Amino acid sequence: SHPEALLEVRGLRVAYGGIQAVKGIDFTVGKGELVSLIGSNGAGKTTTMKAITAMLPVSGGEVLYRGKSIGGLGAWDLVREGLAMVPEGRGVFARMTIVENLQMGAYIRDDKAGIAADIERIFATFPRLKERRAQLAGTMSGGEQQMLAMGRALMSQPQLLLLDEPSMGLSPIMVDKIFEVIAQVAAQGTTVLLVEQNASRALQIADRAYVMESGLISMQGAAADMLSDPKVRAAYLGE
Ligand code: ATP
Repeated sequence: SHPEALLEVRGLRVAYGGIQAVKGIDFTVGKGELVSLIGSNGAGKTTTMKAITAMLPVSGGEVLYRGKSIGGLGAWDLVREGLAMVPEGRGVFARMTIVENLQMGAYIRDDKAGIAADIERIFATFPRLKERRAQLAGTMSGGEQQMLAMGRALMSQPQLLLLDEPSMGLSPIMVDKIFEVIAQVAAQGTTVLLVEQNASRALQIADRAYVMESGLISMQGAAADMLSDPKVRAAYLGE
């Protein structure tokens, strides 16, 4: 195993009933890296994310985090271990306010002053959330909920942040903002695994990337190389 791997996925298989959605994939995310998993609709990216965080049972293989299997851990255990996920479709607590959602993200912490400072930092990044701090999360726009889901995940001070399609359904300005924040979070030392259909944007901020196709990894490499690879450009960058 790679000595610096923070996350290691080995021979992962996931099935829905009799249908194999993920057919045995291997990949690693090294400490401090921003790794992206790209690929078209239905390739198995979201299924992979859900299997990593035990939202779906695996039918084969294993997921190692800091060298240890995380197979049996529930959502809060994973957060305690330093792993936070922003799921596709966001999953904010609809009947809680923005501030309450952010506080929930800090559930595992007890440093009141640090929590308050982090909420202010998230408000500085996303002024919109500050303006609406007392609003119920369920009444916010998709883009606002995406910002909140990201903010909530950051409140746990994760070592590894898993992002599933963070740009989905966002306006172009919000897409810019969300990618800017992801790059900034990674630059500050958080390890990131980014699942994206927006391959071009993902490759622009990633260190390395894996391409998924029909449940398998079909290509991998440095993001910069993939951006200039004619095959990748033709298949995933709309050229
Ligand atoms: P997208 O970007 O559209 O989410 P994806 O790469 O994330 O695509 P998955 O959502 O992981 O792909 O889907 C992989 C395959 O598994 C697809 O063929 C999909 O139809 C199938 N699938 C996903 N969820 C279910 C489910 N709950 N029941 C049955 N099949 C499913």
